[in-house]
Amino acid sequence: MSEKKYDVIVIGAGLLGIATAYYVKKNNPDKTVLILDKEASAGAGNTAQSAGMYRDTFCSEVNLILSSTSIDFFRYVQNELKIDLTLKDITYLWLMDREQFEDNKKAIEVMLDNKIRIEILEKEDIEKKFPELITNFDNNEDAQLLNIKNIDYALLGYDCGELDADKITRDFYETEFKKLGGETLYSTRINRFILDPKGEKLGIPGEPVGWQEKKINSVETDKGEYIHAETFIAATGAWANELLLPIGVDSRVMPLKKSLYRVQHTRLTELLENESFNEEKTIPFTIFPVHGVYIRPVKYNNSIWIGGGSVVGKPYVITDPESIDYSDNPLDDNETDPRRYEYDLYLILSEYLPILKDLPLTSCWAGYYAVNTADKNPVIFKPDGIDGLIVVTAASGSGIMKADAIGRIAEALYNGKKHADLYGGVEFKVSRLGLKERDVDKEYFVI
Ligand SMILES: Cc1cc2nc3c(=O)[nH]c(=O)nc-3n(C[C@H](O)[C@H](O)[C@H](O)COP(=O)(O)OP(=O)(O)OC[C@H]3O[C@@H](n4cnc5c(N)ncnc54)[C@H](O)[C@@H]3O)c2cc1C
Repeated sequence: MSEKKYDVIVIGAGLLGIATAYYVKKNNPDKTVLILDKEASAGAGNTAQSAGMYRDTFCSEVNLILSSTSIDFFRYVQNELKIDLTLKDITYLWLMDREQFEDNKKAIEVMLDNKIRIEILEKEDIEKKFPELITNFDNNEDAQLLNIKNIDYALLGYDCGELDADKITRDFYETEFKKLGGETLYSTRINRFILDPKGEKLGIPGEPVGWQEKKINSVETDKGEYIHAETFIAATGAWANELLLPIGVDSRVMPLKKSLYRVQHTRLTELLENESFNEEKTIPFTIFPVHGVYIRPVKYNNSIWIGGGSVVGKPYVITDPESIDYSDNPLDDNETDPRRYEYDLYLILSEYLPILKDLPLTSCWAGYYAVNTADKNPVIFKPDGIDGLIVVTAASGSGIMKADAIGRIAEALYNGKKHADLYGGVEFKVSRLGLKERDVDKEYFVI
């Protein structure tokens, strides 16, 4: 490794890091920008584990702006720049019982006021459009034991769908970043930030001591080398605490394991062929009225992905930055227990969709949400009292659909701008996602 000093080093080449690196380089063409990752390629962390779904059916202003501007940008990349992201508006279908519908009425009104393209379906409509669904469990004792709720209404979101997270990460952001002269360094883990006094070292033991102003000038890699930069941007997602806690920075991230299960079978053709919802002629991404259990249709190979489920009682995984075993870090573990599908999600889903009865699991995998437990939105901030550091993390399970806006806001913070220009000319006050003047409104559309 050369002794070269970069203007900016982004640590973490997930979708948030690579979008940030792209906008920093694009708006500062003369600056040297490096992005690095412990994995062998960009997007190989939790970005690779995601379901790749997007939606604009939010009622909080922040959620709505972050997701709808990002998705509009991804549409532009696909339609105008002709980079195929396999982005398809397959629609989202939220199934609800009567009580959930009443609870969500205010949220639905806000969506309609904001011109979000939604439609409310009533039970008869749902049964007609989605004939494989069981909607009534009044006389089903087994289902009542499982706390299964009836399906009385559904919210259908039209401008919602799926895209390939790997393609937007690598085929667009990484490729364009490199074209602009941005540099990449993979298979390199950062073990720690080196905290220095700002300005000259005075030779006091334990520098920087309390009264000295502080700055990050370099990081130590797993190869024992030091890499230098004027500014470091930490975009390490669920691993945020490992680098930040040892220098006293709390990014609000709690890592939570989330699993996806895949069932593939020719019997599913019947379910996956559906002419009522979208141009793809398949069922929508469908969320069931119990603990947010969902299915994603994958029509071309007769499979569905299954996720969601209650997280109450599930552990957050804390790794101790001082004694971490990098060869066996639980946050790198992408395996999941197939029995969780059998005893949890399958029991619920096979009541709603009997077509799934006795179909074996084909595969499963897991990743970690970087959850901001306070308001479930990203944090983009410069920690108090430490120069040369910006933190971009805590996407909380919706980082794919918000990534473009997050990258632009991080760039605006780096350049000292008060407002970020999001796609479509939308202005966003940078401090809204910071820690000191945070201004994130409450999301009411929660099922
Ligand atoms: C099962 C599952 C389903 C999901 N489904 C969706 C969905 O449908 N829609 C949606 O919008 N979001 C979804 N998400 C969330 C989405 O995947 C994340 O919000 C998004 O990928 C976060 O991007 P990131 O760049 O912050 O994190 P990551 O992609 O995890 O990137 C962080 C990077 O930092 C690197 N790194 C960490 N520590 C170090 C270090 N010390 N040195 C060097 N490199 C380091 C990692 O290797 C990693 O590549 C899902 C997540 C999971 C787990």
